Amino acid sequence: MAKVKTRFAPSPTGFMHLGGLRTALYAYLYAKHNGGDFVLRIEDTDKERFVEGALEVIYSSLNESGLKYDEGPDVGGNYGPYVQSERKEIYAKYAKELVELGGAYYCFCSKERLESLTDENGNRKYDKLCLKLSKEEVEQKIKNGEPYVIRQNIPTEGTSSYEDLIYGTIEVDYNDLEDNVLIKSDGMPTYNFANVIDDHLMGITHVIRGTEYLSSTPKYNLMYDAFGWERPVYIHLPTIMKDATRKLSKRYGDANFDDFINKGYLKQAIINYVALLGWCPKNNQEKMTLAEMVDLFDLTGISKSPSIFDDVKLRWLNGEYLKEMSDEEFLEVATPFFEKSAVYGKYDIKKIAKLIKSRVEILSEIPEKVDFIANCATIDNNLYENQKQKTSIELAKVVIPACIEKLKDIEDFSNSSLFENLAVVATELEIKSKQLFWILRIALTGMLVTPGGATEIAEILGKEECLNRLNNALSNL
Ligand code: GLU
Repeated sequence: MAKVKTRFAPSPTGFMHLGGLRTALYAYLYAKHNGGDFVLRIEDTDKERFVEGALEVIYSSLNESGLKYDEGPDVGGNYGPYVQSERKEIYAKYAKELVELGGAYYCFCSKERLESLTDENGNRKYDKLCLKLSKEEVEQKIKNGEPYVIRQNIPTEGTSSYEDLIYGTIEVDYNDLEDNVLIKSDGMPTYNFANVIDDHLMGITHVIRGTEYLSSTPKYNLMYDAFGWERPVYIHLPTIMKDATRKLSKRYGDANFDDFINKGYLKQAIINYVALLGWCPKNNQEKMTLAEMVDLFDLTGISKSPSIFDDVKLRWLNGEYLKEMSDEEFLEVATPFFEKSAVYGKYDIKKIAKLIKSRVEILSEIPEKVDFIANCATIDNNLYENQKQKTSIELAKVVIPACIEKLKDIEDFSNSSLFENLAVVATELEIKSKQLFWILRIALTGMLVTPGGATEIAEILGKEECLNRLNNALSNL
């Protein structure tokens, strides 16, 4: 069997939608699992949709996700160019050939005539009028400079059938298909034509794309057959839904790779989660590196039914990736988010990062999780009243001054030293250290729950700030 070759063929829209990223990922995984090649091809024949900088978005999203392509516009290869707008002559040549083979024909119908074919329901189907033109008539019209398009010649009756590796046998009545335009009046091909020519010329063995192409694939097969080319194997992927009724679509700007990065998701968590949108490995593993995915990928794990984008699961997965990072790695990814917080420039974010690493799921939660350190809330004295912890305002009146006295003398303001010294204070006061730390935390932060214990926070605040806060707390009692 020929070496497996798959491709990802995005249109440069200016962002990498997660649905597109999933297609790219599965095409990559399928190729790599089978020792094959993965190709990037840019489908930019629709000039109206051109967006400045869009190619860079594609390159960088794929690179960041680790989806290294073997051939593509920026890496080269033997079957280029890999940008469709640079392949106009190639399409022209094959379109002409397809006309000669009877698979396509020139159409000179005006816009007005085409509009007149619209039925009462707003549907329009071309009536093959120009198919009746003789070869001479066509040549004459072209010579006269009449504008034309080239249309595919679809049989008017019969059923086409092909096998999809996920959805099984797909049958479509030719009558439901249209004589679509293959070459536009400006000489540019449409997707319908270019995808076939390119997939063939680039040696693509397996075409992996969304189910929206399931019913138009018979049109492409007609072309493969007319040219006498081998059809590729088809693998159509289930739709990704935002919820039970809505598709995760490009229109909801919230489903783009870059947006997720900016919101504080890690690229490895995103790519891992995207892998699970429609696929489950045999061993049910959920957290996987890209290399593990390559190893585990198999088509039997791909579901036919739509998958629903689960924000909670993505957050969980992201949190898992954060937890397993080293403190240095976490600090590096977290720093841009610390910059947006009130602690930045005031306290040692290295220490704070350690404190919250296992307590955030996405990095954008950092400011809300750490701002309490910088902004001590005015203390609600009732917080000291806690039956379960056996604390009270009365006890706070004893504990806080004792802590102040002790802290004044402590040179080593590290968590462990503070912990030891204050535990001694608790013993002296004949209370449990748990009671002391409960009160201390409230006095230092004004909060009942915080990430990290009282002494961890005290270490971050430093001696001077701790004493200030405790004195304030005391005078507030
Ligand atoms: N350019 C098409 C798209 O962005 C690619 C479809 C395909 O993979 O054939 O949807």
